[in-house]
Amino acid sequence: MKTVKFGGTSLASAEMMKHCADILKMDDARRFVVVSAPGKRSSDDIKVTDLLYRIYSEVLNDYDPEPTLLLIYERFREIVEGLEIDFDLEKEFDEIRSQLNHDINVNWLASRGEYLNAKIFACYLGWPFIDAKDLIIFKQNHLLSHHLTYKTAGAILSDFSHAVIPGFYGADTHGVITTFSRGGSDVTGAVIARSVGADLYENWTDVSGVMTADPRIIDHPKQVKWISYRELRELSYMGASVLHEDAILPIRSTGIPIQIRNTMDPEAEGTMIVSKYPVDMHQHPVTGIAGKTGFSNLQIEMALMNTQVGFGARILEICAEYGISYEHTPTSIDIISVIAETSYFENCRREIIMKIDQEFHPDKLFIEDGMALVTVVGEGISTNVGVAAKVLQIISNAGINVRMIDAGCSELNIIIGINETDYEKTIRALYDGLHEYF
Ligand code: ASP
Repeated sequence: MKTVKFGGTSLASAEMMKHCADILKMDDARRFVVVSAPGKRSSDDIKVTDLLYRIYSEVLNDYDPEPTLLLIYERFREIVEGLEIDFDLEKEFDEIRSQLNHDINVNWLASRGEYLNAKIFACYLGWPFIDAKDLIIFKQNHLLSHHLTYKTAGAILSDFSHAVIPGFYGADTHGVITTFSRGGSDVTGAVIARSVGADLYENWTDVSGVMTADPRIIDHPKQVKWISYRELRELSYMGASVLHEDAILPIRSTGIPIQIRNTMDPEAEGTMIVSKYPVDMHQHPVTGIAGKTGFSNLQIEMALMNTQVGFGARILEICAEYGISYEHTPTSIDIISVIAETSYFENCRREIIMKIDQEFHPDKLFIEDGMALVTVVGEGISTNVGVAAKVLQIISNAGINVRMIDAGCSELNIIIGINETDYEKTIRALYDGLHEYF
């Protein structure tokens, strides 16, 4: 049994919806469908969810929201007409209008794109529509109540052979609509897959899967056919975005695989995201390369630092006091570096330097910006000798200066800090040089 999620581009028009219905019909195992709100039909189009947030800010700022509401109405009217279904859109929009006159809940408003799209798609398919507010339960702190959700959704859905469910939102225990963060329909799909005990979670989107490198830097990079949850998390964290980063959590302990598939190329096999690689599968040493710019290095140098027990802990405590979430802390005998996103230092640069200076009077203390981090990810790094050497050799052959190296004992990735100005050059050099490792 498969849980299927269609993204916003896949359901952006009546024509696309018909195409997605055909995809469903191709496989009887596709029984529970999670949908996004209509996305962009072209690069200059606006997503329905963005229009809904726009309405909220118009209401807050005392602007007339009616023109924006009409834009959304038009999008849905075109879909309903194109599908030739009997659907009372007027009634739905009357309800939205009446809510706008009250103290409006932004999450309720933002969720209407998914709500309407799911109702319309269900009507077209002749499948039951089940509101996510009855299935997905949030705690008062807006975090998902995992076990209660799996139990509730599992029990409700066990009465249905098929259903269409809106993505992106649920409700708290008082019934107040709450949303995931943007792109959260991916998380709904994972939650539903877990709740119904699906064998596979198919995530249909507008790309053919995970790429081995950023296609904005590498022209047509090779596609990743298989990737582990852990590898995907590393790559996504460093900028490879194909799935919401919270979508792994609901299914991690069950091992349900996620298959990324391209709606416009349904024959393509896409990327399979698995908890563990099949034992008989040939393991490539490297799965992908990703990276991010915009990092800074807070460096503290002090003679005999190594004799002061708790020095590093105190530095990290000071960082935490200023809300800095750090990435790496490379150390040597008398030097400690804290690598974090530059944006964290924006409002506390002077204060943090003064605080460390007053407390420790170090020999040297500075914050250096302009660092990029590049990561080479692969479960196979741990079982293949020479990957790290090869990575450094490629970088040195390209004449790029390495500012930091971090390769954890997990051997899941090798992270290199370089100057931001060398960022794209590094990605290109690594992609070319590691080609035979993918
Ligand atoms: N429609 C929501 C968004 O644009 C959620 C989603 O599409 O997953 O973020």
